[in-house]
Amino acid sequence: MTDPHFPDLLLWAIPFFMLCIVGEVLWLKFHPIKDAYTFKDARTSLIMGIGSSISDALLKVLMVGTLFWVWQFRFFDLGNSIWIILLALVATDFVYYLIHYTYHKSRWFWATHVVHHSSEHYNLTTALRQQWTNGISGTVFFKVPLVLLGIHPGIIVFVMAINLIYQFWFHTETIDKMPRWFEAVMNTPSHHRVHHGRNARYLDCNYAGIFIIWDRMFGTFVPELPDEKVDYGIVKPLTTYNPFKVAFAEFFAIAKDVFAKDLTLGQRFKYLFAAPGYSHDGTRENVAQIKQAYIKKHPDQADTPGLPLS
Ligand SMILES: [Zn+2]
Ligand SMILES: [Zn+2]
Repeated sequence: MTDPHFPDLLLWAIPFFMLCIVGEVLWLKFHPIKDAYTFKDARTSLIMGIGSSISDALLKVLMVGTLFWVWQFRFFDLGNSIWIILLALVATDFVYYLIHYTYHKSRWFWATHVVHHSSEHYNLTTALRQQWTNGISGTVFFKVPLVLLGIHPGIIVFVMAINLIYQFWFHTETIDKMPRWFEAVMNTPSHHRVHHGRNARYLDCNYAGIFIIWDRMFGTFVPELPDEKVDYGIVKPLTTYNPFKVAFAEFFAIAKDVFAKDLTLGQRFKYLFAAPGYSHDGTRENVAQIKQAYIKKHPDQADTPGLPLS
């Protein structure tokens, strides 16, 4: 089979993104939502988006090159029919779920992904607040099995772009709920608002890209509750609009911990790879501990969505 060629969808999507952002800002002029936008925050988000595309282009050889290199070792060649492209869309969405789950559960990966969660506002510019360190994060290896199973790397890049573009529109507070059948199957503004929340019950859930079914299948789904408004951001706020600090702050924090004095090798390893919030002396809290502490304060809420039994 000759190598398939697909258009660079992300490049084509940029004018569409800009148009939608202008539309959202205008809409909010007439239908204001408190704290939906601030200028400085939106500006940082847009700069992060531009920086992310530059970094992806520079590190393309690591991100995409790896997949093309692996292609020679494939077990099958599934071709490039429309059915295989659709299959690849669903398969990469599942892989995206796994990557996104890992982004949240291991600090090395979180250091890259925290960028996307660092805004305390939720609007279409938040969608573009993307990482600069994807190329070095190692997430490309999650996609290797798909290549070995016969999906051409060109198809993977193409459907991953569709995945990212799909994720743009639901970063908004202007849409409350979609029709019920849509909320059941697809990722939506409501589901993803929850993902950006730092309320104890909303931490670490709704990892989906396009289809919310993965979260429903694997027990990581938490619905947006009408009486608990999402508080956007991360537990330990970054408190900076400086794009470079946003991009690298967590990496510096990791280095500081990993190279601290008087730690065992195991503790250094955990500072690098354990769930965010790990500390060797118990002075920090990870998500599980935050949820437990919340339940201790609000025992009546144990076993409600997003909060385990105490
Ligand atoms: Zn996330
Ligand atoms: Zn998001």
